[in-house]
Amino acid sequence: MQVPFVDLKAQYSSIQDEVSAAINTVIDESAFIGGRFVNVFEQEFAAAHGMGHCISAGNGTDTLYVILKMLGIGPGDEVIVPANSWISSSETVTQVGARVCFVDVDPVYYSMDEKDIARKINRRTKAILAVHLQGQMCNMEAIQEMCTTHGILLIEDCAQSHFSRYHKKLAGTWGIAASFSFYPGKNLGAYGDAGCILTDQEDLALKVRRFARHGALIKHRHEIEGINSRMDGLQAAILSVKLKHIHRWTEKRIEHAERYVAMLREEEEIVLPQVRPGTRHTYHLFVIRARKRDSLMQFLKMQGIETAVHYPTPLPFLDAYRYLGHVQADFPSVSALRDEILSLPIFPELAQDQLEHVVEQIKAFYRK
Ligand SMILES: *Cc1c(COP(=O)(O)O)cnc(C)c1O
Repeated sequence: MQVPFVDLKAQYSSIQDEVSAAINTVIDESAFIGGRFVNVFEQEFAAAHGMGHCISAGNGTDTLYVILKMLGIGPGDEVIVPANSWISSSETVTQVGARVCFVDVDPVYYSMDEKDIARKINRRTKAILAVHLQGQMCNMEAIQEMCTTHGILLIEDCAQSHFSRYHKKLAGTWGIAASFSFYPGKNLGAYGDAGCILTDQEDLALKVRRFARHGALIKHRHEIEGINSRMDGLQAAILSVKLKHIHRWTEKRIEHAERYVAMLREEEEIVLPQVRPGTRHTYHLFVIRARKRDSLMQFLKMQGIETAVHYPTPLPFLDAYRYLGHVQADFPSVSALRDEILSLPIFPELAQDQLEHVVEQIKAFYRK
């Protein structure tokens, strides 16, 4: 039996007619860039979060850059970023001229450690980039309080946390602005690159939109120089179709996660993911800690099971950040996790027998 890490084809098959109709309409109307479908998706996504403004963009990296830039973060400023994330979270900080300040992860929930944040806040700290990794939200109460106390901006990176919640409050509604990615493999994925920004602040909404549209809110009236980052009509129309199914798909992910937990609970060689109390984990990833991780991964691969590691090298230890001179002891939790974390297949269409195969093979590996 084959168990892929994600199966985008299976999801497409389940909504093929709706997607084809949407694509045909976009092409029929030649609404390729901007236009009706993009406006509709922006309104739907803002409304789904109870937020005032959604600004579509080309991807979920541009959105971080645009937010940081339009908040006036730049040279002399520091932005706090978790040591475990995708590089977009940190490279965009450098791109605006600010300095990346990495914090360790929480050893239980794998998101950023609020105690390390508290230690690293200083007078240059301008913003905290709260990355809700794997679908699990950060300790938003603690982080929000620190931001208020110290007058620091709170920005969310929700690329892995579509419709995750903390005390019933959705990811993307906590800070001054939030960044979303609709990369195909994300929980809400387009059929190409796409991203968006959510904010409740009208002046910031206008600024980010203007900057992402060559500095012009009205065609040819360039008030400033900007960049070109926009969502195309095909992606917007597809995302509108998928938005209708996202809650059902998220429920499926949660069901799969609960089944993994129930079936693997007795296995002593692994540590299962824990959900932060009062939150809704949306399982973009289902990450276990496993003894002999690399051999397990190899063994599973031979049984037709694809797994992955998110991420093999924590950000501070990448060549790109060698200039910061970090050593493992600077980030003890992420250093302890890096050789043990393993992401198991999880996607809404994962079949019960596929999931059982994964569980049985993990058990078989440790019985060997
Ligand atoms: C995927 C991802 C991004 C970047 O999104 P793109 O749309 O691929 O640019 C940013 N941050 C995190 C945490 C991500 O997982």
